[in-house]
Amino acid sequence: MPSIRNIPVLIVGGGPVGLALAADLGWRGVGCELIEQGDGAIVTPKMNEVNVRTMEFCRRWGIAEKVLNCPFPADYPFDVAFVTSLGGHEIGRMRRPARARQTPERHSPMRLQACSQMWFDPILRSFAQSAPSVRLRHRTRLEAFEDTGTGVMADIVDLESGRRERIAADYLVGCDGATSMIRSALNIGLAGQGVMGHPLHLFFRAPDLLKQCGKEPGTFFLAIDRDGLWANIRVIDPANDMWRLMVLDTDGKQTPETIDRDALMRRAVGRPMPVEWLGLSIWSRRSLVAESYGKGRVFLAGDAVHQLSPTGALGMNTGIGDAVDLGWKLAATVQGWGGDNLLASYDAERRPIGLRNVGMAAEFYLAHEHFEDGLSAIEDDSEQGRTLRARLGRELERDVGAMFRTVGLQLGYRYEDSPICVSDGTHAPPDDPEKFVPSARPGSRAPHVVLRDGRSSLDFYGRGFVLAQFGAGAPDGAEIAAAAAARGVPLRTATIEEPEAAELHERKLVLVRPDGHVAWRGDREPADALAVVDRARGG
Ligand SMILES: Cc1cc2nc3c(=O)[nH]c(=O)nc-3n(C[C@H](O)[C@H](O)[C@H](O)COP(=O)(O)OP(=O)(O)OC[C@H]3O[C@@H](n4cnc5c(N)ncnc54)[C@H](O)[C@@H]3O)c2cc1C
Repeated sequence: MPSIRNIPVLIVGGGPVGLALAADLGWRGVGCELIEQGDGAIVTPKMNEVNVRTMEFCRRWGIAEKVLNCPFPADYPFDVAFVTSLGGHEIGRMRRPARARQTPERHSPMRLQACSQMWFDPILRSFAQSAPSVRLRHRTRLEAFEDTGTGVMADIVDLESGRRERIAADYLVGCDGATSMIRSALNIGLAGQGVMGHPLHLFFRAPDLLKQCGKEPGTFFLAIDRDGLWANIRVIDPANDMWRLMVLDTDGKQTPETIDRDALMRRAVGRPMPVEWLGLSIWSRRSLVAESYGKGRVFLAGDAVHQLSPTGALGMNTGIGDAVDLGWKLAATVQGWGGDNLLASYDAERRPIGLRNVGMAAEFYLAHEHFEDGLSAIEDDSEQGRTLRARLGRELERDVGAMFRTVGLQLGYRYEDSPICVSDGTHAPPDDPEKFVPSARPGSRAPHVVLRDGRSSLDFYGRGFVLAQFGAGAPDGAEIAAAAAARGVPLRTATIEEPEAAELHERKLVLVRPDGHVAWRGDREPADALAVVDRARGG
């Protein structure tokens, strides 16, 4: 019989979402163990774009500089271009300046960063590992588990030695990816549009690729020829000439042996192009959300509960949002100040965001399909060809380019009808992927304001609750502070004097949760401060 160890939280899966959860719990001083069946090596990196909200979390954790200083060159432009082929006509270009030339984002202290998973995961991993309360183990697999009602018994195996072990955890979190065995064992189904296609990734090295093709530097090239919009070519590691050709859809029957990589490269470039092939992956484009984000003491996060088209770069970023929402709630519960209903609010808050983001990602992908017909003259050197290319350039930028204009999507998600936020009866601003309207309505991400000392108001948030006071004559919040103390809820007050901050927050007192979302706001202390604090801590 294997020995039993007791731990607060067992995380299964060391992809970016499991690592982010371990990092957040470690940052909060909560004990957790993360097991990952692989060895941590990333053979074919998927994710490349760390969005603005995830960068804000990285800033909170103190690792934003590491992500910004990843090997993606600061002076390499993020331009997106539409081409008939890399060596053919460029029919549209969305200018997106290199990091070194960007102006600050109006609504955030951070900007979206290109940082391949092959760099991002190791940054998260070493940060998580630096916390004394975190233990990470590779080549270790969860084989079975049982929710006993008072804890979770997990059977794990060390894949190197074959040694089996039983762990008793207060909570189990499955960050075990799209094929989640934990989700299956809990009998939780997935619902949605299902499989939307079978894309193919080909990784390659090609020095001076763009120079050889006569193109200006750019990060993402979408290829449209007489048969339609069929591929994109993306730089992964400019300093090492590493690229990825993604064929948007295949018949799903191809195997690595039957794929003619050179022919695909010829089509992508418009002529034969010798490259060094690095790797290949065939996968399924899915659009699915789990019917529930957990059961009892077992929770699910990341691809285990939402699988979406990579159009819009939302997969990992949505999963990291899950980890941040769950992280403080697990911490509060383990530390004893979280109420009995706190963990249940994870599903109530995050599942609607999963549905929102999966839906928007699918819409971005479906926009590609509008560009299939009437393209026979697209490469012609004729008046007809020129006119067609000019029209398509505008339409592609407007429709397909929308997936690169997503500040509203990244920052505008909010927890409407959350059981742990106190609605103030105001109307939500429109949820427009392209436009972000900052708001301190309960459920929203508390807005960013540049403070006189150059910091962001977001820098106040993260550890415990913060009662932010705005403008002259703001109440001192003593009743809320006393209520928090009575319940053992960590809370501090922050006075934010900048007039534009008072205007943006619209109330004199704003109670901000440890994840940076607003729980309550008002111009006076609430009539029943204890009721507000109890609601916010899920009591
Ligand atoms: C082409 C492409 C481009 C993308 N680009 C972006 C992007 O730019 N931005 C973005 O946000 N997202 C992007 N994504 C999506 C993103 O890659 C995924 O959403 C993300 O990797 C999911 O992370 P995860 O941690 O939930 O799951 P995974 O990364 O799948 O990790 C799950 C881990 O669990 C482990 N595991 C499974 N079962 C067990 C077990 N029983 N015991 C122990 N370990 C187990 C697995 O080995 C695996 O390492 C892209 C995806 C694709 C396909």
